[in-house]
Amino acid sequence: MQTHEINTRFTEHFRGRGHTVVPSASLILDDPTLLFVNAGMVQFKPYFLGEAPAPYPRATSIQKCVRTGDIDEVGKTTRHNTFFQMAGNFSFGDYFKEGAMGFAWELLTKSQADGGYGFDPERLWVTVYEKDDEAAQLWQRVAGVPTERIQARDGKDNYWDMGVPGPGGPCSEIYYDRGPKYGREGGPIADEDRYIEIWNLVFMQDIRGEQSPKLGHPPIGTLPTKNIDTGMGVERVACLLQGVENVYETDLVRPVIAKAEELSGRRYGANHEDDVRFRVIADHARSGVMLVGDGVTPGNEARGYVLRRLLRRIIRSTRLLGVQEPVLGEFSKVVRDAMAPSYPELVTEFDRIDSVMRNEEEAFLTTLTAGSKIFDVAVAETKKAGGKQLGGEQAFQLHDTYGFPIDLTLEMASEQGLTVDEQGFRNLMAEQRRRAKEDAKARKTGHGDLSTYRTLLDQHGTTEFIGYTDLQSHSRVL
Ligand code: ATP
Ligand code: MG
Ligand code: MG
Ligand code: MG
Repeated sequence: MQTHEINTRFTEHFRGRGHTVVPSASLILDDPTLLFVNAGMVQFKPYFLGEAPAPYPRATSIQKCVRTGDIDEVGKTTRHNTFFQMAGNFSFGDYFKEGAMGFAWELLTKSQADGGYGFDPERLWVTVYEKDDEAAQLWQRVAGVPTERIQARDGKDNYWDMGVPGPGGPCSEIYYDRGPKYGREGGPIADEDRYIEIWNLVFMQDIRGEQSPKLGHPPIGTLPTKNIDTGMGVERVACLLQGVENVYETDLVRPVIAKAEELSGRRYGANHEDDVRFRVIADHARSGVMLVGDGVTPGNEARGYVLRRLLRRIIRSTRLLGVQEPVLGEFSKVVRDAMAPSYPELVTEFDRIDSVMRNEEEAFLTTLTAGSKIFDVAVAETKKAGGKQLGGEQAFQLHDTYGFPIDLTLEMASEQGLTVDEQGFRNLMAEQRRRAKEDAKARKTGHGDLSTYRTLLDQHGTTEFIGYTDLQSHSRVL
């Protein structure tokens, strides 16, 4: 079953059960806690928080999501994209646990001839929050799930809140058993590669206080109206229904792999290292196009930096497959053609998307050509001296003179079996910032030469970026 059909069936299922169909929000919403929209519920937050009355009691959407925190998983696990589509149904004070379970189970297990996905119910497992006995009982009653396939998990895994006092509640997840070929027996708590999580149901029922129930603290109250927030991973369902190995081989992502095969003359499936590169390219190309489509441009901070990092990883991965020519323009077209049926704006916006991609690639190739020579010399010297670590000085020089972001140096070094003295690098960066500030102050007070000040700021202001980890934590606020 093609992705488009999976989405249509989801929408129709919930439309037929009284849900208002709401279009996906942009990946960029005005929400200071989030870099990118990372779940279907984000656009409905005001209703869940009681900041605005919900205009409908039930809604459904297929939301574009980007999770930067999953970037390092991409291509290595079978199930993590940076961009993916989350299909969701939402209840604002209307139906609750029983309704959510029933709707989800019905769509998953109804035969394909009857408009469902046709999953074998015997292969579905569920997890519940360890203190949510009600959920465990309802799964048995509503869906007939036997107790052997219901597993309890603690708050870290199966309690949801927003990281601050406010609404919270237990979650319950539905998993599909891919079989012994994919890993160990024992349900999702034993192996999340074999038992693949497809749907998460959040039962918003509590008010959490200063301390989170995630860590075992009791909630401080009960919400006056209870809400439902669910998210089903469309790519994961596609992977299972299309009988492919992972989410990168599904119908909307795989065409980019094919393009990369064509450009490189190498074959996907021939060796593991190349396969990871093919998957990274395919995943990131899609995220890149979707982000540019929603107005992000490559830059050195926050959103722009994430985009830049995605695009640069595509270019590097393609080079490692032996391709020297510019590639982003090629991949963008393939992504557009695959995604346009669901996102027609990719066609109307394509000239803009294409030119952003090409400009970024041109700039990066210049950087890469110049910096790689210096990098290669540094690696050779380190190895000759019997070292295992690239010096902070060298990483700093690559950054300062050739514009190599530290994560690029780290990645390239690790490909050479070397680590990098990151602390040394950071010390030099801090030192440089301090000097720049003093310089700027001196210039400002001494001569008032604003243009030089401006240049310094432009050069050094951008180095303030505090690392990828910080972006990750932003994206995980929800
Ligand atoms: P996982 O444990 O596999 O990382 P999750 O628990 O972080 O998933 P949720 O936050 O519950 O995911 O999101 C709801 C659903 O969205 C998941 O059940 C899954 O099907 C899908 N999903 C989550 N993250 C990704 C991703 N990076 N790529 C593709 N689908 C995803
Ligand atoms: Mg996750
Ligand atoms: Mg999970
Ligand atoms: Mg989950």
